[in-house]
Amino acid sequence: MEETNLLYEGKAKKVYETEDPDLLIIYFKDDATAFNGKKHAIIDEKGALNKTITVKAFNWMNECGIPNHFVEENSGREIVVKRLKMVPVEVVVRNVIAGSLAKRLGLKVGEKLPEPLIEFYLKSDELDDPMITEQHIKVFGWADEKTIEKMKELALKVNDCLKERFDRAGIELVDFKLEFGFDPDGNLIVGDEFTPDGARLWDKETKEVLDKDRFRKDLGDLIEGYEKILMKISRI
Ligand code: ADP
Ligand code: UDP
Repeated sequence: MEETNLLYEGKAKKVYETEDPDLLIIYFKDDATAFNGKKHAIIDEKGALNKTITVKAFNWMNECGIPNHFVEENSGREIVVKRLKMVPVEVVVRNVIAGSLAKRLGLKVGEKLPEPLIEFYLKSDELDDPMITEQHIKVFGWADEKTIEKMKELALKVNDCLKERFDRAGIELVDFKLEFGFDPDGNLIVGDEFTPDGARLWDKETKEVLDKDRFRKDLGDLIEGYEKILMKISRI
């Protein structure tokens, strides 16, 4: 599939239009950003690793019957996806306490939650993606009640599906972020990506951090972590 024009360039990806109005190409960049772009680096091969990991995650979602935008792999570090009308909300699912949850509520990192916790954040670089409630989403018209319920239902399904597979690969799925959008038929499906840029993944045995926290907190070579993830998930 050929790119026509660049539709959008974000922090970690480029999105291109194609000759088919219903299909887009996503290109995974080598840029690593943290703290909403305040920390930035170009890390060779990150894009290629993210592409391969996201393809695996979307294939897993397909195995679990979870509707998503993935169509096929393209050359290099690209995937072909269905064009969606994105919901401007980030849906975070947490299984283990970490990151902003630990910080905001003074909780101990690494403690398992009794059940998965879902949080919503507004997609806004200017505002640093503030946390919002379901009511904010409804009142300000970012999504209606039915869509919110569907996002929660799909997010929990993705969690069940991926958590079990990561576990078999020797990886703990701590938390992750999803984005959703509407396809041309009006179906709400999973869009964007599932990569260690937007998920916390720890080695199940050693608790070694394998995700983007290596970059955020200078915990070690980012690529080494992403390669370990890929190696482990390729085995199952
Ligand atoms: P950011 O905007 O956070 O810097 P990226 O660099 O990841 O993000 O850019 C990717 C953009 O593409 C995001 O805004 C995301 O919502 C959007 N996007 C992802 N999948 C689709 C899709 N299938 N259709 C339309 N837009 C999409
Ligand atoms: N996340 C993301 N994009 C964001 C904010 C968070 O992909 O704009 C992911 C992040 O990588 C982590 C999860 O969502 O896997 C929860 O993030 P958290 O709220 O703990 O924020 P952080 O500490 O990453 O800033």
